[in-house]
Amino acid sequence: MKASSFTRPPGKRFHLAKLDPGSTGKLDSKEKSLPLLEKNLERLWSLQNRLFAGGKHGLLVVLQAMDGGGKDGTIRTVMGAFSPQGVAVTPFKVPTEEERAHDFLWRIHKVAPAKGLVGIFNRSHYEDVLVVRVKGLAPEEVWRRRYEQINAFEQLLAETGTKIVKLYLHISPEEQARRLADRQQDPDEHWKFNPGDLEDRKLWPQYMAAYEDALSLCNTPWAPWYAVPADRKWYRNLVVSEILVEALESLHLEFPKPDGDLTAYKIPKIKWP
Ligand code: ADP
Repeated sequence: MKASSFTRPPGKRFHLAKLDPGSTGKLDSKEKSLPLLEKNLERLWSLQNRLFAGGKHGLLVVLQAMDGGGKDGTIRTVMGAFSPQGVAVTPFKVPTEEERAHDFLWRIHKVAPAKGLVGIFNRSHYEDVLVVRVKGLAPEEVWRRRYEQINAFEQLLAETGTKIVKLYLHISPEEQARRLADRQQDPDEHWKFNPGDLEDRKLWPQYMAAYEDALSLCNTPWAPWYAVPADRKWYRNLVVSEILVEALESLHLEFPKPDGDLTAYKIPKIKWP
């Protein structure tokens, strides 16, 4: 499996209707995926250690999906590989009054990861060209300009040391219906059931068009988009873990070299109690 099979060359369009959300690539069972996932998760932890120790780069992971797309499960399973000390998850909700009084990237830039850290965005600035566009929350001349504004913003982050990986978890409307029905029926999931999600579901074609534009117009060399088949959670987890491993490996992270010969220091002997 290669991360590059889930992205497109910059400038080429993503065609989501042609992308099978139920794909499991060359794998035919969850059992076979688990050892591969385990290996990637261990690798992620070790790469994060280098990222943290080196302090030269940050990693920003943007997660977008339709409701029930599996953002939370991906964060739990895949990003769970990272040491909590070096990772921050930020969910983006409907903007507050204070946030709305600023430009749309203000709340985003404030929480972009510092060098050495991993930042995970559960939703992101892309909501400003997705829900905002589909629900008409801003006029077209406003959201149209945002694709370029986003590209310039992400370029700034990339040029100042942030590795950016953007993941769209691609589920089918049938799978979404199953997951929403689970939320409706399972008492432990009732809290996740939001009648507003049903309104968004009715706008599926409009959302897909907005996603296609977001993915196609903002798929830059410095901040690529990946469309991850996400109907099968085990395959989604494996693909996301592979994309993150490859992204971190591309940084050629090394532990910092010590100043001089550390063995020259004598560890003091202590007598206690
Ligand atoms: P989630 O669905 O991510 O688990 P919520 O149920 O709290 O979390 O949903 C967050 C809501 O905030 C979503 O409906 C999303 O569309 C909305 N939202 C996020 N960013 C914006 C934005 N910039 N403008 C309008 N709505 C937004």
